[in-house]
Amino acid sequence: MPELPEVETVRRGLVDRVVGRRIDRVEIGRLRAVRRTGPERVIEGLTGRTILEAQRRGKYLICPLDSGESLMVHLRMSGQLLVDSIESPRSAHSHVNLRLAPTSASATIEELRFVDPRTFGEVVVFGPEEVDLVVPEIGRLGPDPIVDGIDWGDFRRRLARTRRGAKAVLLDQSVIAGIGNIYSDEILHRARIHPLRPAERIGREPARRLHRAIDEVLRAAVAAGGSTLRDAQYVDVAGRSGSFQDLHLVYGRAGRTCVTCERGRIRVATVAGRTSHWCPVCQR
Ligand SMILES: [Zn+2]
Repeated sequence: MPELPEVETVRRGLVDRVVGRRIDRVEIGRLRAVRRTGPERVIEGLTGRTILEAQRRGKYLICPLDSGESLMVHLRMSGQLLVDSIESPRSAHSHVNLRLAPTSASATIEELRFVDPRTFGEVVVFGPEEVDLVVPEIGRLGPDPIVDGIDWGDFRRRLARTRRGAKAVLLDQSVIAGIGNIYSDEILHRARIHPLRPAERIGREPARRLHRAIDEVLRAAVAAGGSTLRDAQYVDVAGRSGSFQDLHLVYGRAGRTCVTCERGRIRVATVAGRTSHWCPVCQR
């Protein structure tokens, strides 16, 4: 599932390839992709509109339009946003297709395609007065580590007042927006914290390490274009894979020797409802 680094990589691709362009035709294949507001709202809200910006909060992509409304995309499990020539055949899972008016620089007509084999992802159009009604979860998101930064004092207080395990806290989008299963494992490993350690029992020094690891891991992953797992479902807008999976220290390495301590064997178990990986030597 795409997390902050993957969504940020997609956002950067949108800035390069789509921002400033006008959508001149909207075609919807599978209605499930537009289930929140229905197809008419999406078609009316996007046709003839220019995408002014590409922003991100956590795993949400939000693109303000020249109408004053915004396009929101959540990739969920397997969503992709691809910019492709209309000459190139659409995938069977290309559920929302936005034709972009040609720019003077290029003669080829391109489409922004929302492709989603598992169809958990969504394309939504909402107006400024509809945020609470249509996309209420955006208002409940905690700070984004890259966009806002994580305030150290606030982070420390958040940890101190919950008995939940460290992994569960990192996954809570209302505490920090954008971290999912892969990056929570990688962050906890680098901070040398066991995923089940109660947050209120994380001391000042480990909390410092955790605070630092959030920033370092996410920035390194953005620099690597995100992580593309063996299912190869995550790609950027040009269809390219990320490379941070080659730098994973624990995620997907169950049973292998820890590369950090060269002693522990990476464990895997369900923590906070997710398949989690850690080194029993480095993370006690
Ligand atoms: Zn280790």
